[in-house]
Amino acid sequence: MKVPHWQLALGAALFTGGVAVGLRLQRPADPTQAEPGVRPRYDRDGALFQPLAQGRRASGKPDIVLISVDTLRTDVLGAYGDTRGLTPFLDSLAAQGTVFERAYASSSWTVPTVATMVTGLYAHQHGVDRGAFQSSGVHSQPPLPEELVLLPERLRGLGYRTLGVTTNAHLAGELGYQQGFDSYVNAGFEDAAFIDATVRDWAPMMAKGDQPVFLWMHYFDPHDPYTRREPYFTELESRTLTGTAMAAPREQRTEKAKELSKMLGKALKDDIGRFEDPDELLLLQNLYGAEVRYTDEWIRRTLNMLELSPDTLIVFTADHGEEFMDHAGLGHRRSLHNELMQVPFIVVRAGDIPAGQRVSQPIATVDLLSTIVEVAGGDRVAQSGGASGRSVAPLWRGEALPALPALSTTQKGGLLQESVVVGDHKLIRRNEAPLVQLFDVVNDIHERTDLAPAQPERVKELLATLDGLLKENRREGATGSVEVTDPATLEQLRAMGYIDDDDGYGH
Ligand SMILES: [Zn+2]
Repeated sequence: MKVPHWQLALGAALFTGGVAVGLRLQRPADPTQAEPGVRPRYDRDGALFQPLAQGRRASGKPDIVLISVDTLRTDVLGAYGDTRGLTPFLDSLAAQGTVFERAYASSSWTVPTVATMVTGLYAHQHGVDRGAFQSSGVHSQPPLPEELVLLPERLRGLGYRTLGVTTNAHLAGELGYQQGFDSYVNAGFEDAAFIDATVRDWAPMMAKGDQPVFLWMHYFDPHDPYTRREPYFTELESRTLTGTAMAAPREQRTEKAKELSKMLGKALKDDIGRFEDPDELLLLQNLYGAEVRYTDEWIRRTLNMLELSPDTLIVFTADHGEEFMDHAGLGHRRSLHNELMQVPFIVVRAGDIPAGQRVSQPIATVDLLSTIVEVAGGDRVAQSGGASGRSVAPLWRGEALPALPALSTTQKGGLLQESVVVGDHKLIRRNEAPLVQLFDVVNDIHERTDLAPAQPERVKELLATLDGLLKENRREGATGSVEVTDPATLEQLRAMGYIDDDDGYGH
């Protein structure tokens, strides 16, 4: 088991009007060790919450906890159908609240999609859609524009004390993420224990006073490199091995797991051929699955420690998923398929959000900001501009809310991709072949059958929707959208019936 390397990490906490730097020397207890005599409180009677009859704040506003996990596939949660038991705590949370079955992220990598969560705007509208991490740190990432009013800024304006802790270097305070936070801690790439330690320091202050609290925790653990988390990895191996993998000596798989757990995304992708072997792929998936199980355990610990009031709004989601050869790739960012774009979205709040309810209408993480702001007493549509989000609270209250198209974009090198989900259909457009694909994402959730050749009219309709969304409030400097200018390609699209000569293609 990797020894967390944050014991001496410096946590820079930015306070209003000044900067405080905290030095952390202690690490909390390892949650993988048994706790004799202590029964977890989450597994019976919804006892996560303090048994208070009403909210504890005189203001009447609920506390709000936003939990986002990096690189978390929806289909690894029991609440979304997985049967391996990787998320017992999150499943118990889901049972206490409402599960949105179809929530779509705005991009398949951190930088644009987390910016969407905190701005309520799509990537072409907030413009934070570039950036790379090297040993020297993050470079080329534009900071969140100061003139945008971010989620914590809105909540502070509504009277909230705002606290944030994130463990992905792309979300550093100097990249604009500290805006609106009374305290914001980002210490680069860290594990879940760091979040727990930080929140533990805040807990006594959070429990006091009339001011409602907004707490954001962003976890990084399921992202590569996939640290071998024990005992979860060994448990998962023993339950999932079949065929040749079962026959292989245990030490051989353990050695391979050690090797794989050190490899970063690029190294894995350079060696992608080996993962066409299902046994090798299973090893990688089990390393990832154990990271998910580990994250679930730390979230349980941290939330239990906080002893939240029952009227607290908890929102759980992810920035994007992860691919395990679903579409011939590993990692994320290189496609807009469902294993990357559909994210968990779970909301919990006693007295407001029905327990055990499931909502099948599609929503998007661009809706997150307006949803939280509405519960905090703000406007239902928090940003101007037709393409940005709106509160989805009416859906958990059983009210009608017209479905909106969900836009996603990603860029890697010269490859630009855009997609739009409308009803059961998703259209993907690229500037490389295949230029256009159409999927039924309800009946073909793994996106195996391209319906574009059979449904040219639907393709044209969705291309028009996509173009319309991409034209709304485009920010200067945002990554360009797919434009086809090559005459031969245009001719090909025309022949396929996707272009009407009178209204052209692209924008
Ligand atoms: Zn991410």
